[in-house]
Amino acid sequence: MEQVKNRRVLVSGAGIAGTTLAYWLLRHGFEPTVVERAPALREGGYKIDVRGAALEVVKRMGVMAEVRRERTDVRGGSVVTATGKRVASMDGDTFGGREGEDAEILRGDLNRILYDLTKGEAEYLFDDSVVSLEEGPDGVEAVFESGGRRVFDLVVGADGLHSHTRALAFGAEERFVHDLGYYVSIYSVPNHLDLDRWELTYVSPNRTALTYSTAKDTGAKAMFLFASGPLEYDRRDPVAQKRLLAEAYAGEGWEVPRLLAAVGEAPDFYFDSLSQVRMDRWSKGRTVLAGDAAHCASPASGQGTSLALVGGYVLAGELAAADGDHEAAFAAYESAMRPFVDENQKLGPANIKHMVMRTRGQVWIQLKLLALMNRLPGKEKMMAKVLEPIHRAANAITLEEYERP
Ligand SMILES: Cc1cc2nc3c(=O)[nH]c(=O)nc-3n(C[C@H](O)[C@H](O)[C@H](O)COP(=O)(O)OP(=O)(O)OC[C@H]3O[C@@H](n4cnc5c(N)ncnc54)[C@H](O)[C@@H]3O)c2cc1C
Repeated sequence: MEQVKNRRVLVSGAGIAGTTLAYWLLRHGFEPTVVERAPALREGGYKIDVRGAALEVVKRMGVMAEVRRERTDVRGGSVVTATGKRVASMDGDTFGGREGEDAEILRGDLNRILYDLTKGEAEYLFDDSVVSLEEGPDGVEAVFESGGRRVFDLVVGADGLHSHTRALAFGAEERFVHDLGYYVSIYSVPNHLDLDRWELTYVSPNRTALTYSTAKDTGAKAMFLFASGPLEYDRRDPVAQKRLLAEAYAGEGWEVPRLLAAVGEAPDFYFDSLSQVRMDRWSKGRTVLAGDAAHCASPASGQGTSLALVGGYVLAGELAAADGDHEAAFAAYESAMRPFVDENQKLGPANIKHMVMRTRGQVWIQLKLLALMNRLPGKEKMMAKVLEPIHRAANAITLEEYERP
């Protein structure tokens, strides 16, 4: 078969979207080069769900068995009061909003599975990033932080919520990143509660805290979600972020002081606003965005990873179907992905209202309702009904079988 047009593709970011894209670009005859800022693939991390159409992508990549093998196997979760009393408990799939083959896995484990599929074939450049992009008639010249300079036919920004590619091609992130009014923090903690694949959630006005252990971890994770107006801080200053977190949870009950105290030793501290990326278009000339860089739905949607998997598949597929014609491919990619993204983005603001209660009254009602539901037979069925929107959104795209003409 003839060589595909525009075959040299630079992908910025070896996350979920970037590695998925690299796999499918290779399959369709393109030559991906993936540049990743981190010195190595980012492993470990929080647990994420792969649902709906994204499962089909994973299956078409032939790694469903590995994803199942690496799943967190969290058995269930409970909601607790300030004294640690469990008011309601549910099995893991119901608690996590999963059905059928939906799988929960640590983000880093999924990333490694995807990366392993391409590591010998795609070119990976770790510990580097792009500092400038200059588009000419026949390609884009990329200058790398390490000092190199190379020309590519196309550039894909798959570099996450705070995408540098997006900033270079489209302008400052303030125009596109919309803060939902909450912050999220997550990091590893010792498993001092001896949790065995179990999750405990504590809800207080404007502040939720939770901790869980998974089959993949001897320790546990702590996660915090709190409502707040915009906070001023430097994204590269974890000390300042840890201080903001401690201030937000000052005086809080349950295990919160112990979880906060463990932050000092955490090797993987994460802190960010709960934000969505909204853009009128995802491409400009020969540059296009994928995953969170294009359309972050926020961790509250529970669908960012699935969107990144599907987006990587569709973008590479449309490039193949258009035989490398980037204008046609980028337009087709947007029209296939937009309705799917819109449905999933709606989940973020809707879900967060169930995750963080705003007043004492709301907390009281939530705990009463959960306690009541906990006593009723068929509580799993009731919960499944509540979680229906996420499954609808997760399946709101029909995946084409892409081939080059
Ligand atoms: C606490 C939390 C919980 C979550 N829970 C879920 C969930 O339950 N379900 C779900 O589906 N999603 C969940 N998500 C969201 C999910 O992690 C993301 O939506 C998903 O990882 C997006 O994939 P991505 O490839 O677009 O970006 P990322 O996975 O963020 O990857 C971006 C990559 O780009 C690299 N990078 C960044 N800047 C540069 C640069 N300048 N140059 C080169 N490389 C760069 C990064 O190092 C990273 O490797 C959660 C997120 C968080 C934070």
